[in-house]
Amino acid sequence: MMMSEKKTGCMVCGEELIYTDEPEKLQCVYCKNEYDSNAKCSAGHFVCDSCHALGAVELIEQYCQSSSSENPLEMAVTLMKSPRVKMHGPEHHFLVPAVLLTAYYNIKKDKEAKLKKLKVAKGRSEKILGGFCGFYGTCGAAVGTGIFISLITDSTPLAKEGWRQSNLITARSLETIANHGGPRCCKRNTYWALREAVKFLDEHFGVKIEINENIICEFNELNKECLEDECRYYQDKGL
Ligand SMILES: [Zn+2]
Ligand SMILES: [Zn+2]
Repeated sequence: MMMSEKKTGCMVCGEELIYTDEPEKLQCVYCKNEYDSNAKCSAGHFVCDSCHALGAVELIEQYCQSSSSENPLEMAVTLMKSPRVKMHGPEHHFLVPAVLLTAYYNIKKDKEAKLKKLKVAKGRSEKILGGFCGFYGTCGAAVGTGIFISLITDSTPLAKEGWRQSNLITARSLETIANHGGPRCCKRNTYWALREAVKFLDEHFGVKIEINENIICEFNELNKECLEDECRYYQDKGL
């Protein structure tokens, strides 16, 4: 399935929508609420009308609020498949801390903290403009990991250890992202940022989060500047 075809099909995977005569109870992929519906895709996905109408940042928040996943990369890829999340765009600056906070607080079984911190992360990441990587020399996905550590340590400009750790994670992810060179790719940089954050959590907090080290990017067809063989996540699919 070509990614570009999904503008008309299922919002999750791009497959064709199937309409049934009788409505059935289906759970929305994003908000997890159940509805009686006559429409789902051939892979079984259902998206409710209110989630269908959300913008990228709201969709990310809605999905993370209701997700019980402990796998940030898997959540990121699911969200990236939505046509609301563009190939490149500042919504990735929220996507990074959102899926990290979700995995972290789902592991901690603290939904209240998750909801509260998702909201704060959304406000903070809205201040990181598009194109930050090239214009300010600081990729927004890296800043996203700083927001994440800042929030789980309750850091402030006056904090000592949380201040050190949140600046350190930004530095770590930024260095990894920088070393792989430009041009921008919000997918590649999100994968690197998430991997660095997961490593950091293990080293500094003893929290183990699942991450697939061998992820293959599914979005390269949409990226005309894709580094292809020079990108760690690229695989020629022979299409
Ligand atoms: Zn689908
Ligand atoms: Zn929904």
